[in-house]
Amino acid sequence: MSGIRVLVNGAKGRMGQETVRAIQAEADLELVAQIDLDDNLAQSIKESSAQVVVDFTTPKVAYEMVQTILESGAAGVIGTTGFTPEQIAKLEESCKGRKPALLIAPNFSVGALLLMKLSEFAAPHMPAAEIIELHHDKKADSPSGTAVKTAEMIDAARKTAGAEAHPVHPQDEARGQVIGDTPIHSVRLQGLLAHQEVIFGGQGQTLTLRHDSLDRTCFMPGVVAGVRAVMEREGLIYGLDRILFA
Ligand code: NAP
Repeated sequence: MSGIRVLVNGAKGRMGQETVRAIQAEADLELVAQIDLDDNLAQSIKESSAQVVVDFTTPKVAYEMVQTILESGAAGVIGTTGFTPEQIAKLEESCKGRKPALLIAPNFSVGALLLMKLSEFAAPHMPAAEIIELHHDKKADSPSGTAVKTAEMIDAARKTAGAEAHPVHPQDEARGQVIGDTPIHSVRLQGLLAHQEVIFGGQGQTLTLRHDSLDRTCFMPGVVAGVRAVMEREGLIYGLDRILFA
């Protein structure tokens, strides 16, 4: 069997295990290594001649993992969350013209990406928005990368349209973490998987957009699309929307 040679990092984890199954199910992809906490990423890429590294590890090491992937010459499909805007800006710069590409995708689910796009569309028409993101209790970071990206997209869409945002009061501790003009509220609860609501407010009306990930397979078509795309593209691709809706 031959195809795009894929290494999965964090392969024993919840997303890693699902990714291993998804890669194995695709005829044009070849799983050449699956590694986890006790393995050496640089050495494993070299030994397996991996062309693409899919990373679902932990926010604490994600930036360091990306540096190792970049040094190895492989492409990266990074699902691990928790990158700061400063780190993304640095990677944008250091990856300029680099082929194959590096994809950092805060969310691989098509439904969640549509939620972000629809939020972008609604933002200039509705002056206020709040995000409630709800995840399982084992999620390490908050707010979620998806919520942060949604807030950034809302902010950018309003700026592009020259639309005013309704002022928020970030000094109140229970009002969430404010990104741009959008407060984000994070719920971590047993029984949940990954859910997000964006509630827009306007004069005499609200508009609620909601997405629910019901099981982890929902991320896999996006991961597979990402693996194929990074082999063709260059530079940093921040967000799977730049592949799916390009
Ligand atoms: P998880 O079940 O804890 O899996 C992470 C795996 O990575 C574990 O096996 C962990 O080992 C391993 N690991 C930790 N540090 C490592 C290192 N330095 N090198 C190699 N492996 C290491 O977590 P998960 O639920 O799969 O989530 C993983 C990441 O994906 C999180 O950041 C999560 O927010 C993100 N995520 C992204 C999306 C998306 O669509 N982009 C969707 C869901 C989740 P130990 O258990 O031994 O520590």
